[in-house]
Amino acid sequence: MDKTVGVLGGGQLGRMLTEAASRLNVKVVTLDAANSPAKQINAVTDHITGSFKNADDVRRLAHACDVMTIEIEHVDTEILEELSGGFQTRDDWRLVRGPEVEIHPSWETIRLIQDKYEQKKHLASHGICTPAFEPVDHDPAALSDIGTKLGFPFMLKSRTEAYDGRGNYPVRSSSDIDAALKALVGRPLYAEKWADFKMELAVMVVKTAQKASDEWESITKAFPVVETVHEDSICKLVYAPACNVDQATIQDAQRMARAAVGNLPGKGVFGVEMFLIEDGSLMVNEIAPRPHNSGHYTIEACHISQYDAHLRAILDLPISQNSLNFANPSNNAIMFNILGGEDPESHLRVANKALLLVDEAKIHLYGKGDARPGRKMGHITLLSDSMQVAQARMKPLVEAADELRA
Ligand code: ATP
Ligand code: MG
Ligand code: MG
Repeated sequence: MDKTVGVLGGGQLGRMLTEAASRLNVKVVTLDAANSPAKQINAVTDHITGSFKNADDVRRLAHACDVMTIEIEHVDTEILEELSGGFQTRDDWRLVRGPEVEIHPSWETIRLIQDKYEQKKHLASHGICTPAFEPVDHDPAALSDIGTKLGFPFMLKSRTEAYDGRGNYPVRSSSDIDAALKALVGRPLYAEKWADFKMELAVMVVKTAQKASDEWESITKAFPVVETVHEDSICKLVYAPACNVDQATIQDAQRMARAAVGNLPGKGVFGVEMFLIEDGSLMVNEIAPRPHNSGHYTIEACHISQYDAHLRAILDLPISQNSLNFANPSNNAIMFNILGGEDPESHLRVANKALLLVDEAKIHLYGKGDARPGRKMGHITLLSDSMQVAQARMKPLVEAADELRA
């Protein structure tokens, strides 16, 4: 493979992307702090030390690669726009003009997704169902009006810089308003109607471009539908495939996820988070324009992983629909996030327990150093013919982690 991939961000997603790239002998250079998780496993000498929020650092990465991508959406999009030659990186960008560096997904997609309010407006304008939402200022009276309009509880969210629920505040009654405004002080806000979901689902979608006669057309394909379980707004467990969901809903979820991603310019994988509402309908919660926590299971469970798929998409390599399916149709997978506790080595204790007790555990540790409460330090995936068996095998590990976090 003769193209070098530059990655904005060197966290765990960048690290797993690097692993996938190494198998295809694709060179990866990473922009992030020295010794970030992705750099630890990649001995090339032209990584960039710096920040994906700094224009000069991003420019330096652009000079070191042919195709640039992201593992985190909180990057400087002004510089990405400039490096794209000012053109909107539509899927037919090659017919317009060769930009300085190919960037996927497009700066427009990343900018849109960075602002969760704009993202929701975009989804709604394309007929994708989402919870009702309203912009709101830092004003107790305005929040009280929102409570009347959307009903209590509602979710107050930061429009920007949100991850792992840091940016969300559930407002259960008007007496929570002051605490909510204090928790999200200084952040641009919007409010969302509470979604009474019976389950959260997620679908990884791969978007590629293919030349049909003279036109480039974008193609979307979906990985299986999974169930995600969140605790305190942080993903804890992923069940793949989603169980106890009828086939029609599974197909609707894949269709909806593909539709939601279909009109976002640029190539790559996208994580689509959804709510399955009590009445059986589906709503999109949000889209991640990159590999996603709900897709880690694909490393062991599917013919190709979300990381393989991302590389193939941005490098224009073939991806068949079948390659996104379970490698063994009878496989069930559970992915468990090892979140940090108070003890800086809490994640190692969970990993050691898995080493001792669960032969089939696929253990991933991210190399982030000391644990901090709620920080994603690693994950464990288990495959089994039976979801019940996988659950029983995972149980002592979940209990050990819960105890360490208590
Ligand atoms: P991520 O790490 O996925 O980027 P985030 O910080 O962007 O997280 P969201 O995805 O908006 O946060 O919300 C995190 C979780 O909070 C959701 O997965 C869900 O469990 C809960 N949640 C979010 N919005 C709502 C809502 N409108 N109603 C009920 N629960 C919600
Ligand atoms: Mg998010
Ligand atoms: Mg989310």
